[in-house]
Amino acid sequence: MIEIMKKIFDLFSKIKKKNIYAVYEDDLNGLLQSVGIKDSLELGKENCHVCGTQVTYKSLRAIIKVDNEYKVVCYNQDCINSITNK
Ligand SMILES: [Zn+2]
Repeated sequence: MIEIMKKIFDLFSKIKKKNIYAVYEDDLNGLLQSVGIKDSLELGKENCHVCGTQVTYKSLRAIIKVDNEYKVVCYNQDCINSITNK
């Protein structure tokens, strides 16, 4: 568990300049609420910005801001790579 948190933290440090928010479980609900995607996520209406797969609480890994809109990214490593390498 600590390993995972460290990985997420490393990722977050790397990308925080780019309007990308890594997801921490503790304040996930607050974060989702503040960016206005909590309800649509619960309703299954959020899709990964990269691969288009439906994103759930379990598969949510990051939230990114694209053209002033918040988009979710799933936990697929390719999707994470794609947003961090841009
Ligand atoms: Zn994806």
